[in-house]
Amino acid sequence: MKLNKSYFYTLRENVKDEDSISGNLLVRSGMIKKSSSGVYMYLPLGYKVLKKIENIVREEMNAAGAQEVLMPSLIPEEVYIASGRREGFGSSMFSLKDRFNKPFVLGPTHEELFAAAAAMHIRSYKDMPINLYQFQTKFRDEPRPRFGLIRVREFIMKDAYSFDTDVEGLNLSYQRMFDAYKNSFDRMKIDYKIVTADTGVMGGMLSEEFQAVTDIGEDILVLCDACGYASNLEVAACVSKDPMSNTSLETKELVFTPKAKTIEEVSGFFGLPVTQFVKTLIYLIDDIPVAVMVRGDHEVNETKVRKLLGGSSIELAPAAIVEDVTNAAVGFAGPIGLSIQIVADNEVVKLRNFIVGANQTDHHYKNVNLSDFNIKVIGDVRQIMEGDRCPNCTGHVHFKHGIEIGNTFKLGDKYSKAMNLEYLDSGNQLHPVVMGSYGIGPGRCLAALAEQNHDEFGIRWPMAVAPFEVAIVIINLKVEKQVDIGNLLYNRFIEAGIDTVLDDRDQRAGVKFNDMDLLGIPLRITVGKTVDQDLVELKVRGQNESKLISISEALEQVKSLMKEQLSK
Ligand SMILES: [Zn+2]
Repeated sequence: MKLNKSYFYTLRENVKDEDSISGNLLVRSGMIKKSSSGVYMYLPLGYKVLKKIENIVREEMNAAGAQEVLMPSLIPEEVYIASGRREGFGSSMFSLKDRFNKPFVLGPTHEELFAAAAAMHIRSYKDMPINLYQFQTKFRDEPRPRFGLIRVREFIMKDAYSFDTDVEGLNLSYQRMFDAYKNSFDRMKIDYKIVTADTGVMGGMLSEEFQAVTDIGEDILVLCDACGYASNLEVAACVSKDPMSNTSLETKELVFTPKAKTIEEVSGFFGLPVTQFVKTLIYLIDDIPVAVMVRGDHEVNETKVRKLLGGSSIELAPAAIVEDVTNAAVGFAGPIGLSIQIVADNEVVKLRNFIVGANQTDHHYKNVNLSDFNIKVIGDVRQIMEGDRCPNCTGHVHFKHGIEIGNTFKLGDKYSKAMNLEYLDSGNQLHPVVMGSYGIGPGRCLAALAEQNHDEFGIRWPMAVAPFEVAIVIINLKVEKQVDIGNLLYNRFIEAGIDTVLDDRDQRAGVKFNDMDLLGIPLRITVGKTVDQDLVELKVRGQNESKLISISEALEQVKSLMKEQLSK
């Protein structure tokens, strides 16, 4: 591409309404532009990067034996009602009506339609395994779109679905997809971790996530360097490590605690560590109030509570309900005298003579023991903390932020049963098909790469996904020889199949260098005064030094640097 006659712009200043480095750099370099909250335009160079990412994934999917299709975005709502998922998606699903008042939705994910497509092909066990995938626009009405392309309301997703006769078949299909994902992310040069995750609204038997490690990701990754354990925070198990207290039991005592409301204030008031305090939080699980108790220094893990009680939704109870069940202002909830179900964390039941809210405004109980109230369920309901014991070895865990760039699900027969997707075995018996589903967000990959690869000058794209592999910058357009050599090299590179941009704009050299750095082109050839000695300058993005090379050797030098960068 020659820049002078092409669509191209950059912005000098940081963008005010972007809250991430990647969002800011991608907007400033003219690759994307926000259209509305959580909805973006991909402009020519951003779209080029997106296509390169897609092509890597497509090659790996095809190599794994999957076949590409394209499903509609506009789907009758009844499809999701039939599978039982309409409610689960709730208001995150965009819904609309056609001119005949028939309800439709914009698809957030496509298990149902793929099951319908598979049903056309599958009659008997001989028709499997098969695997279908697509690159297609998805819609999710996120409450808080943010971080540029990371949390958006409209996005392209690569989703794939495998169909097998049994779990052994699913395991093989799953492994093929898993390997294809690893290959894809390795080729893009993303720094990622694979973690186990909650199966959430998808349901099924197993869910793993591919998480790009960055500073801003919305997911918290729990990692152990000693054994390689990696998990999403929401499912990371806590190993009980503190011993049972063996101090002698005291009798509970009601204490007036004016102005002491937070854990810190209360523990300050009593002069005791926060570990001697037990928090009681009132949740609504499937709209029923439940009290959850964790030690003062711990946080409730809502996913664990929901799973432990077998609920499908969990949220903190609103103030009015808390006041109603505790007969006190918010902040004084405790287990004593509560008439709702009480769930306690494993660490709570080891304590003796602890402090709890008294269900009376401005009051707490001290010297409380388990015999003072009725616990219904005991289990692991707290969030793991940095420095806690690894669930897998004797090491300790630490946290990183992650951006979920891919996920893989062993769905089992949940959707095939709901959608009547069945096959005949060799004895002519009907069985439900066993499914897996697999997603990659190319836009998130793009954003994660920008988050992981940038410096003060702009993005530093890995060679495999860069908008161009090489930039040729002509310093002075008034010097005919510089223009000629710039064009000669450009044609030579293009013929050799190298994705090259020629900066032939009538701009100052500094402006051109800044733009190529902001855009993150891995290699730059500068055509300036040295052409009189048959030399041009070669610079690798991210390195301070450039070197002079002969014009005749430029192609070979660029090829060898490209090879080096693509392989490392
Ligand atoms: Zn470990």
